[in-house]
Amino acid sequence: MKRLKFIFIMFFVFISTAVFSANVGREINSKCRQNLKLLNAGTEKLIKSTSCNLPKWCTYKQAIKDFLYPDKYLENKTIVGPTPDCEYYMVSNDKGEYDWLCYLHGVLEGDKTMSFRYHEHQLQGKTTSKFMANEEYKKHVQSMLHWTEYTPTPKEFFIYHYNMNPIVTTVLSVFIVLLSVYLIKSFFNL
Ligand SMILES: [Zn+2]
Repeated sequence: MKRLKFIFIMFFVFISTAVFSANVGREINSKCRQNLKLLNAGTEKLIKSTSCNLPKWCTYKQAIKDFLYPDKYLENKTIVGPTPDCEYYMVSNDKGEYDWLCYLHGVLEGDKTMSFRYHEHQLQGKTTSKFMANEEYKKHVQSMLHWTEYTPTPKEFFIYHYNMNPIVTTVLSVFIVLLSVYLIKSFFNL
């Protein structure tokens, strides 16, 4: 009977974990990639319909003001990044290659992928060697590398683990608190 109870509790824990867990980092990556897709598709449309020369480096704000008109090329959408650090830029080279990038996530398709902690989230970004001759692009890659050295605060660490696995994180946290109380009590002979 006891064993049955134990199996039932374990089953409940696993189901709850699956229901409540949320990989917020993956959702953020996906939203940002959707934005990059839209910007790249819009630029492709622009190139097909006009013979404009793309700038070597350009912010999203400049682009929608000067040539990538949202009503014509971006399905009337305003691009909003899923994090405050998701800022969009366009880069192009002498060969006529271009790409949109997010300052935090990098390009949509690159030759290097990096995984890094962004506050309480685990994110993924991509860089490409195609544009390394561009000084602005190089600066952006440095900024991405900088994020790989980020150390989350204890609060961000807890939120990340809670989002990924709420039940286990809660149980472990309660256990750690109880253990600390027990150790302090025995140390001071309370
Ligand atoms: Zn982004």
